[in-house]
Amino acid sequence: MDTRLPQTDPRYAVAGSNFPLNGKQKALLALAEELGPRFAERAERYDREASFPFENYADLRAAGLLGLCVPEKFGGQGADLKTYALVSATLGKYCGATALTFNMHACSTLWPGILADDLDMTNEQRAGHEKRRAVHFERVVKQGAVYAQPFSEGSAAAAGKAPFGTTAAKVEGGWRVNGKKIFASLAGAAHYYGVLCTENKPELSMRDTLYLAVPGDAPGLTVTGDWDPLGMRGTVSRNLLFKDVFVPDDGAMMPRGVYFQAASRWPHMFTTLSPTYMGIAIAAYEFTVKYLRGEVSGMPPVKRRMYPTKQIAVAEMWVKLEQTRALFLRMLEDARVDPPKDARLRAYAAQYTIMENANDICRLAIRTCGGQSMLKSLPLERLYRDSRCGALMLPWTAELCLDRIGREALYEPGEDD
Ligand SMILES: Cc1cc2nc3c(=O)[nH]c(=O)nc-3n(C[C@H](O)[C@H](O)[C@H](O)COP(=O)(O)OP(=O)(O)OC[C@H]3O[C@@H](n4cnc5c(N)ncnc54)[C@H](O)[C@@H]3O)c2cc1C
Repeated sequence: MDTRLPQTDPRYAVAGSNFPLNGKQKALLALAEELGPRFAERAERYDREASFPFENYADLRAAGLLGLCVPEKFGGQGADLKTYALVSATLGKYCGATALTFNMHACSTLWPGILADDLDMTNEQRAGHEKRRAVHFERVVKQGAVYAQPFSEGSAAAAGKAPFGTTAAKVEGGWRVNGKKIFASLAGAAHYYGVLCTENKPELSMRDTLYLAVPGDAPGLTVTGDWDPLGMRGTVSRNLLFKDVFVPDDGAMMPRGVYFQAASRWPHMFTTLSPTYMGIAIAAYEFTVKYLRGEVSGMPPVKRRMYPTKQIAVAEMWVKLEQTRALFLRMLEDARVDPPKDARLRAYAAQYTIMENANDICRLAIRTCGGQSMLKSLPLERLYRDSRCGALMLPWTAELCLDRIGREALYEPGEDD
């Protein structure tokens, strides 16, 4: 491990003490911890303005973290899902909007990268994918390009229950894309939008899902709608309209049919939003301990730790935090292609638990710290608002996790009544 980088109190480190980390993971986590305090300083402004954290992205770029999940052979850090999640949760402690948007970018390299290596492709598909992904990875590693991941459309598609209504028609040398995406984080800020759409055939099918990188300056692409939400304001998740947008053949981020395969065989790919909220939960707990100890900078050193009710509240928060963290870390150990059924069910349970408990830990933090914590001068009210968004994120919203846990426990694949 790089010993020049700061050490973190293990209670507030994502993996805690005595969790097995390799040298690369330790160095990446230390790097994220080093960047974090700068992100925390800027978080209030991005939240107030609902503006994109460009300065944080400049820092991520300079630190080499834009290439976190780009395989090493393409010049990246080669982080797997577990390593990515630990770094993402660390960033989430400092700025939720940065961590959440970083998820969209990092997954645009994780999915066509290490994850796609596990999927079945013909030799021809594999060779074509290797060539095309080299183009994407070079943009990220050499040119510092940032990718977004706009999937949601306001239909059942982002929930994985219907084909995407955004379509791509095959034309000479590429694809012609038409449609609309909503809640597109990094809208107006990304260099490329990794769009999920359906190949335009007489019958639209989820099996024909395409994953295409649309350049941010492509003619026919417009960013629309305002953005003044409750939380995660720095994500700038506005709408995207595609009107006859041409995407060249090398814009395909996965070969035909492979996204559909990934979605069913690599379910943990949909857990990658939860680390952001794991980080927020840790931040709310850490803030509460420091507040009650009179250690929050800029506040009078008034201690409130002597009241039994405060001690009980902190105990309750710790119990919830540790339950959440234990399931988070366990889920990361499970992440692989074709996981057994118990691991898949545990992934749903982990996602549900992280999203719901992050908000609950923030609720307890506000109640415990009291009126001061409602003020915009302190980060707690922002953590509270940001944490509210976790359970709403498709495809694995808290509701849909419960749906899946219940259904998949009671039905085996192919069974029906
Ligand atoms: C801050 C933020 C950033 C976001 N960034 C992105 C992004 O970068 N890319 C992106 O693609 N999306 C993004 N989203 C969108 C997000 O993933 C959801 O798609 C969006 O919040 C859903 O909006 P909705 O409530 O209108 O969905 P609705 O479709 O109205 O769903 C509402 C709820 O109903 C349930 N539901 C939905 N469909 C079904 C179904 N078929 N069966 C049973 N229950 C169902 C779900 O629990 C869902 O939460 C972001 C959202 C937020 C809040």
